[in-house]
Amino acid sequence: MIDKAHNGFQMHCDNCSDSIYIPHATTYKEVYEEAKSSGWINRQIDGEWMNFCGDECYKERRNV
Ligand SMILES: [Zn+2]
Repeated sequence: MIDKAHNGFQMHCDNCSDSIYIPHATTYKEVYEEAKSSGWINRQIDGEWMNFCGDECYKERRNV
C-alpha cells in the first residue's frame, strides 16, 4: 500500500507495520525504484500487487 505523504510517498509493508518514506518522488515508478534500493520488494500474491519491507515478510505472507 502506498500513501501520499508530505512532498513524497509513504510505502507500507503488507505484512508487518513497517513503512518507508520516499521524499520528492512524483511517480509510482520512482517510489518503487527508491524503495527497492532500500531492500523493499514488490510481489504479486493471488493477482494482487503487494509491498514488503523484505524477503522475510514476503515469505511469511505467502505462507498464510
Ligand atoms: Zn514487513
